[in-house]
Amino acid sequence: MNTSGAQLWLDKIHQLPELAAPFNLLNVCGGHERSITHAGLRGVLPKGLNLIPGPGCPVCVCPEADIALAIAIAMQANVVLLAFGDLLRVPINRTNPCKLLPKSVKSLSQAKAAGADIQPIASPLEAKKIAAQQPNKTVVFFAAGFETTMAPVAALLTEFFSHSLPRNLLFLISGRKTWPAVRKLLADAESAPIHGLIAPGHVATVMGAHEWQFIPDEFKIPSAIAGFESESLLRAFHSILQQQISHKPQLENCYPQAVKTHGNLHAQTLLDRCFKVTSSQWRGIGSINNSGFTLVPALAELDAHNHYADISLAIHEAYSQNTMPKNCKCAEVVMAKGLPNQCPLYGTSCSPRQPLGPCMVSDEGACRIWWSAGHE
Ligand code: SF4
Ligand code: SF4
Repeated sequence: MNTSGAQLWLDKIHQLPELAAPFNLLNVCGGHERSITHAGLRGVLPKGLNLIPGPGCPVCVCPEADIALAIAIAMQANVVLLAFGDLLRVPINRTNPCKLLPKSVKSLSQAKAAGADIQPIASPLEAKKIAAQQPNKTVVFFAAGFETTMAPVAALLTEFFSHSLPRNLLFLISGRKTWPAVRKLLADAESAPIHGLIAPGHVATVMGAHEWQFIPDEFKIPSAIAGFESESLLRAFHSILQQQISHKPQLENCYPQAVKTHGNLHAQTLLDRCFKVTSSQWRGIGSINNSGFTLVPALAELDAHNHYADISLAIHEAYSQNTMPKNCKCAEVVMAKGLPNQCPLYGTSCSPRQPLGPCMVSDEGACRIWWSAGHE
């Protein structure tokens, strides 16, 4: 945090009039939380400016039912299951009676240790490559993520229309849109009062700045889109505080080099072509309207839910409760009802080495970020 641009914005922030009351500033993106925490921004900002992490990690909100289904499919004969790395370690609750899963298997990693062929991948193109290399196996790509992740997944899916996808490649989609969760959080009386919002830079790059205009319009609070460097984040904090001082809430784009008003139209076309938007479960939170990506009917034959319909039904019945481990506060952390170190399990029975809740797993999970940065 010693770049001259960042220092300039920090100085400007400190030149603003003192805050009359505590100001709770929510960030939506796990990448922002990571930058804020690792650059130590909380320690250099004016007293009373509280930076609160929000629902910015797709791994944290991936429902147990989806992970349990991925495990159950992976344990079928002749299947290779592919997933982005962080998902492998997310624990699921095994108090649910589900005969499809061995009692001792509580994550994809444990299923792998028990003999299932589960491979971490870093990009959708790897899924195509692996499926082409193993034509005698059914290769299932468990794709969880927000808009930024689902756009490249959609790019791969569209190859179905040109007949260039390997015929043995199936998709288990667990994609989510960010803004409906943020709207739910802001409307929820139990969340901390939010006085300003930092919108996610990557999501806005794909979907456009305009998707976040509802923040000042509907909730009348200041907002800014930020990139991931300290300079961009501090510029956004300054904008928000200035909006607050002038009583003129708006949406300022503090990441103009990447974010355009209407976003990446090509990526949006791919998303529209491959996915319909439906109500969707968020782990620990429940169902949120218009928040999930599901394959369009034209891609039904690629849908692992259809190929494994009986298993899918049984798992969804067993995991219909959307439960969390006992005393786990992940849902509260994600929905700004509590901070990571307010969870009784933080750093005691839950740590990155042995995560009990999903927020301690991923690089974008707030608990993992705080613990890695040494927050007690
Ligand atoms: S996918 Fe990108 S925008 Fe979304 S939470 Fe992660 S880093 Fe932030
Ligand atoms: S410390 Fe662990 S159990 Fe508690 S909220 Fe964080 S991830 Fe969840």
